[in-house]
Amino acid sequence: MPHAALDAALRPALNERRARALYRRRRTLASPQQPELVVDGQPRVGFCSNDYLGLANHPAVVTAFRNAAGRYGVGSGASHLVCGHSAEHHALEEELADFLGRERALLFSTGYMANLGAVTALVGKGDAIFEDRLNHASLLDAGLLSGARFQRFLHNDPHHLKRRLEKTTAHRQLVAVDGVFSMDGDIAPLSELSRVAHEHSAWLMVDDAHGFGCLGETGAGTLEHLGVTEAEVPIYMGTLGKALGTAGAFVAGSDALIETLIQFSRSYIYTTALSPAVAAATRASLKLVREEGWRRTVLQERIAQFRQGARQLGLNLMASDTAIQPIWVGEDERALALANALETRGIWVAAIRPPTVPPGSARLRITLSAAHSESQVTQLLAALADSKAEVDRLDGNRSGADFGTDEVTP
Ligand SMILES: *Cc1c(COP(=O)(O)O)cnc(C)c1O
Repeated sequence: MPHAALDAALRPALNERRARALYRRRRTLASPQQPELVVDGQPRVGFCSNDYLGLANHPAVVTAFRNAAGRYGVGSGASHLVCGHSAEHHALEEELADFLGRERALLFSTGYMANLGAVTALVGKGDAIFEDRLNHASLLDAGLLSGARFQRFLHNDPHHLKRRLEKTTAHRQLVAVDGVFSMDGDIAPLSELSRVAHEHSAWLMVDDAHGFGCLGETGAGTLEHLGVTEAEVPIYMGTLGKALGTAGAFVAGSDALIETLIQFSRSYIYTTALSPAVAAATRASLKLVREEGWRRTVLQERIAQFRQGARQLGLNLMASDTAIQPIWVGEDERALALANALETRGIWVAAIRPPTVPPGSARLRITLSAAHSESQVTQLLAALADSKAEVDRLDGNRSGADFGTDEVTP
């Protein structure tokens, strides 16, 4: 029997969210993560996955997972500090450190936990943390949880950060930003941010969930893409559930940094280690990231094709050169209507609404992958043109003000 008083207390917030077109519902997949999906029993071409390089269902990754499960079983059985740290975890950490040219790397079970663990181990009461206002929720939550004085600065604005840093009297100062912003697709100005941080003896941490594997000549991420060094960004966090196609995350840096996290990161210490089979699968996908640079080339081609086509259609592209290609909409209802119209045309795109993005900045978050074919991107563009026309019609031909031709940044 459900608890009536509990349910009565919970219902109003649910009803309000539903009334405001902000309600979330989950869709059920009956296919691997790949462009051709089966969603709630229907075939769809997906443009909302973070599987940017098409590795989530790659045969070599699947085989590595299967073989490791045969050898190690499924569960890791315990946390890393008790008895859950397997040879596969250890080898993956060494390979990640080698790939990034850093002394060490440390695996976490998720990116959310890596951010919580790193930030709370590095700063606390009496310290200060400075975050870009569009940082990922996990980085913002980490800052709040740390107990350090929490301050946001304007998006990608080193001058605003500088003004904030000038005023602080905190003991330690940590600046944390996304490398590639998850809902906007733009890249943080890391050279400028690191210069400002350095001038004020603050440390810079980058969450490269969407850059690692995709950006840079070798796929090492946003720092490589921008030519930024470890001295400039001593704390580097990457996730494994996006371009690497598996699950988990890591922090890479000096031996002192990693030992500090092992000793003091509560979200590292008090949780069960990832499955060793996931670590083994990730070793296989890291090998593909390193050896198959063509995946990044194809991804860039799809991004260029999409942007050119969308521009011709007069869609409101945002200022992004990465695999995240949002189309700015504005109103929540309109974003939902566009996503629904796309779905009737066999295309699955997520309508991203508050609180994931600031109020009034709803958007279609389109993500591209090296696994998409040229003709799938063509199909997406045609469906976008049709859907926009349909929603404009339903809106009483209210064409344009919020869905016009100029490139916009919120
Ligand atoms: C996805 C994401 C995370 C969280 O990573 P998980 O492994 O999914 O928990 C953290 N930061 C950013 C920027 C992300 O996009």
